[in-house]
Amino acid sequence: MPVGTQGTVKAVAQDVLESLGAEIILGNTYHLYLRPGYEVIRRMGGLHRFISWPRAMLTDSGGFQVFSLSALRKVTEDGVQFRSHLDGSSHFFTPEHSIDVQIALGADICMAFDECTEYPASRARAEESLRLTMAWAQRSLSHFRAHSHEVPWFEPKTGVPQVPSAWGPGIGNSIASPKASCMQCFGIVQGGMYTDLRRQCAERLVEMDFDGYAIGGLSVGEPRQLTLEIISEVLPLLPKDKPRYVMGVGYPDEIEQYARLGVDMMDCVLPTRAARHGLLFTSEGRVNIKNRQYAEDQNPPDPACNCMVCRRYSRAYLRHLMQAGEALSGTLNTIHNLAFYLGIMQRVRKNLHPGE
Ligand SMILES: [Zn+2]
Repeated sequence: MPVGTQGTVKAVAQDVLESLGAEIILGNTYHLYLRPGYEVIRRMGGLHRFISWPRAMLTDSGGFQVFSLSALRKVTEDGVQFRSHLDGSSHFFTPEHSIDVQIALGADICMAFDECTEYPASRARAEESLRLTMAWAQRSLSHFRAHSHEVPWFEPKTGVPQVPSAWGPGIGNSIASPKASCMQCFGIVQGGMYTDLRRQCAERLVEMDFDGYAIGGLSVGEPRQLTLEIISEVLPLLPKDKPRYVMGVGYPDEIEQYARLGVDMMDCVLPTRAARHGLLFTSEGRVNIKNRQYAEDQNPPDPACNCMVCRRYSRAYLRHLMQAGEALSGTLNTIHNLAFYLGIMQRVRKNLHPGE
């Protein structure tokens, strides 16, 4: 999933994302809650309509950003008090409030409110954090079940989903469904780097019966071998017939490795963020387009890539755009990186289902 933090996958327009084959993007609840505000987006008919994205969308719970971006956090059993990183205003997030905000945004998939355990964390700290995450998971799910019909694209009187007809059956398959709301809620497995805590969390969440399951709290600074170990430990405990999502990973070879293990979904800012800093992922390895060696290089960014950037532009031109600080630089670099990432997943899917 390309990451569209503030209702945009940075530097790339929605029609380009569609042509790249992106089937689902991620929006960040924390950012959208603060700006433009979830009530505004609700009045605009939900996030799909607001940003004109007819395909599927997932929103995170806001928890990760509350813990990583905001100032003066105070965590209690009930929720988290924090100050906005934008203007210092004070806010209080509970599992119920996070779900309410996500329902107002109206993505296809929302996430339970959790605490992302920092790394490294002592066993006592990881246990306490996990206890909170599991209590919050149950509260998130109960609230979601009671309120998921309040999505902004659902017309309660007629029971007809309010989908612009020009959009066809997109907007996740969910909207075309006759059910009142097919918005789904995923639980998040935490537990730090302790495999027994991870196992305990996974089993408890499966009992709660979420629509899908994520493994969170990875890629937070731990060695890569440990990331793999946790995923390999947790994945078999999660139902195969529901989506299994690893949050916040990873480098191209990692996402291929995890997909082959059975991970269905991943999100990462890496392809987009690295692109804006001039780092391209290619079939020949990483290319730092700022390097002098590319100043007169007429080759495409990645000779093996057939994306709209590689078909048209040279490394020398991309380097020049970067050096000149041109806005097009971020756009072209990002398009290639997303094409490369999405290409990996398309290849993995093809191998899993040959002939399709
Ligand atoms: Zn390319």
